[in-house]
Amino acid sequence: MLTVDFITNKVLHSRTYILCKENSNCVWLVDCGDTDRVLEKVGDKIVEGVLLTHTHSDHIYGLEELIKRYPSVKVYTNAEGVEALKSPKLNLSHYHSEYPDISIDTPNNVCVLKEGDELFVLGNLVKVYETPGHSPTCLTYIIEDKAFTGDAYIPGVKVFTGFPHANKQQATLSIERIRKLASNHQIMPGHTVVP
Ligand SMILES: [Zn+2]
Repeated sequence: MLTVDFITNKVLHSRTYILCKENSNCVWLVDCGDTDRVLEKVGDKIVEGVLLTHTHSDHIYGLEELIKRYPSVKVYTNAEGVEALKSPKLNLSHYHSEYPDISIDTPNNVCVLKEGDELFVLGNLVKVYETPGHSPTCLTYIIEDKAFTGDAYIPGVKVFTGFPHANKQQATLSIERIRKLASNHQIMPGHTVVP
């Protein structure tokens, strides 16, 4: 069985989830913010992969450091996400003063997912759903009894569609879809909501 832990990152209280399994020396992440704190938690285990819920900078700002530390780490996103990882304007890092421009263009690390894909993470089946609206790069991952929804669905919070390339209608459809898909699942959202 998978153990899921998370940290709340310094920038905008985004979350980085850490997926572990007993007897495995590998871990996986969902999104990647404060890499130093993730590495403290991970200890001498190896980060094998990162599932990106979307490529807005507050969810990816630790990736460059992570790739330096684990050069063979695999980073999963959709086709639009591949482009946004390269572009500080598309990933919005250009507009944030908390960190320098982010541009990740290492094809050996980046893997492309699309609607309906399935992959295995630490021996567990992961189902991939495209849930655009907040960003065209939004993916929802269903693993065991959990749904990692990123910013496409944060219970109790209105999905923000004020960014460039956001789409309010798509966001509404995606929320409906996630609610159906994940009706029996624990929602693991992209941010810790701070009142
Ligand atoms: Zn976002």
